[in-house]
Amino acid sequence: MSVAVYRFARDLRLDDHAGLSAAAAHGDVLPVLIIDGDLEKRLRSSPRRAAFYCGAVAALDGALRERGSALIVRRGEAAGILGPLVREAGASAVAWSASYDGAGAALDAELQAAIEESGARATVVHDSPAIPPEESTAARSSGDEGYKAFAPYYEVWRELEPGSYEAPLLLSFARAALPNEPLPQPKEFGAADAPADASSARARENLDAFLRGPALQYSIALNVPADDRTSHLSADLTFGTIAARTIVRETRRRLDDPFLLSEERASLRLFQRSIAMRDFFLQLAWYNPRTSQETLQEKMRTFPFADSHPQLEAWREGRTGYPIVDAGVRQLHATGWMHPRVRAIAASFLCFDLSVDWRVGMAEWERYLIEDDPAIAVGNWQWIAGVGADLAAYPRIYNPRKQERRFDPAGIFARKWVAELAHSPGGGFSAARSATAQIQLPLGGAQEYPRPVVDHDRAARDFLKRYQQFVTPAAGRRSNR
Ligand SMILES: Cc1cc2nc3c(=O)[nH]c(=O)nc-3n(C[C@H](O)[C@H](O)[C@H](O)COP(=O)(O)OP(=O)(O)OC[C@H]3O[C@@H](n4cnc5c(N)ncnc54)[C@H](O)[C@@H]3O)c2cc1C
Repeated sequence: MSVAVYRFARDLRLDDHAGLSAAAAHGDVLPVLIIDGDLEKRLRSSPRRAAFYCGAVAALDGALRERGSALIVRRGEAAGILGPLVREAGASAVAWSASYDGAGAALDAELQAAIEESGARATVVHDSPAIPPEESTAARSSGDEGYKAFAPYYEVWRELEPGSYEAPLLLSFARAALPNEPLPQPKEFGAADAPADASSARARENLDAFLRGPALQYSIALNVPADDRTSHLSADLTFGTIAARTIVRETRRRLDDPFLLSEERASLRLFQRSIAMRDFFLQLAWYNPRTSQETLQEKMRTFPFADSHPQLEAWREGRTGYPIVDAGVRQLHATGWMHPRVRAIAASFLCFDLSVDWRVGMAEWERYLIEDDPAIAVGNWQWIAGVGADLAAYPRIYNPRKQERRFDPAGIFARKWVAELAHSPGGGFSAARSATAQIQLPLGGAQEYPRPVVDHDRAARDFLKRYQQFVTPAAGRRSNR
């Protein structure tokens, strides 16, 4: 029987796996894991990410051993490793799943060309999205550049069925007596934590538990940071311990339940829309690879966002004096995750209240997030900064005090994550406060919580003025008179 090498990357599972299925079409699958310089850097930057990744790899290796195989681990650049490995294993084909960020996609293309030149077949497969970019694009009547706006994308996406690769028992794995290196351990990336429990079986249990209960209240959870009952599946999706296809299929199965209340059905649909949002940003990066360096909106490429601000450190550390922003940042520091609603508020604060470039914020959060999706991070940060796929006429500037009143009116989320506020008297923090007033804390040794580091209303007005002058310089000159 011929052998096909499969290179695992952000797809650390055996189930519902488009890449493994593609490799298996060419022979017994020899599973390979390559830790290249870029992956090493990204694991080094976030200890929790390293612990998650190492746990996921260990679980994958365990699952392969139960099937009479094992991961072949190599460290170094894929271009120098895969070619010789294919020859040593006598393989006729190699497959791996596609990267979506510009740099990763370019490397994929180079590697594919080099392998094919050496005589083996190289296949790059869409495993990460539930619906591959080409499938959603094929439904368009014109053009082949994908979608730049979410609404038309979603209209098409929700009518498409994800492919199914649900039968891992039909896959046949090879075992080769090739030199092997040890499985990655968190300490190799400077992380003190033990490998996390990040198996695909656990991810599946979490999905099932989520769909049984919390998913039916998802529309509430999305808007109540203190509730903390969104799916928390982002790290699993990042490293592929669960397939987006599986999530969509199971959510649609759940929607078939005739006894659901209409609100529960609406919640499930909203959850499905979140997965579509992920697919949307992946296809956006796929068709616009330069967005990893420059903004999607051409007109905004030279907008003078700053690289720094006197209060940038306060934002980084969660000491802006705006409780909902600070609570989000501190939740991220403490857990490696931030509630989706709060991400938008805290990111908007950086881009508009401080007028700092979205790339600064993205790089900062990458040091803490367990997730590791450059394409998704870029898409969201550009969206929030008003330079990406959200084509609204003006940037949407979130007012942190109004957002707090809306989404954390009793201050529960703020008290949970901002230690200085934990014992402050009950109620919300923003209702009756002037723009820069300090929150009054009880006497008796409570650590001081800062007063707002900028006046939001003034900062937002200043930003909009500069924005207007930038997009319509003539109007700016007029208004300056
Ligand atoms: C400024 C900013 C930066 C972000 N950076 C990242 C990032 O680096 N990686 C990342 O995966 N998500 C990112 N998001 C999107 C979103 O906030 C997270 O996916 C979500 O918070 C993860 O929590 P969850 O798994 O409980 O999500 P749920 O609400 O349960 O959603 C389920 C899944 O849908 C996907 N999803 C939901 N919202 C989005 C979205 N807006 N864009 C893309 N996918 C989405 C995620 O894979 C998520 O796990 C960012 C959002 C903002 C505003």
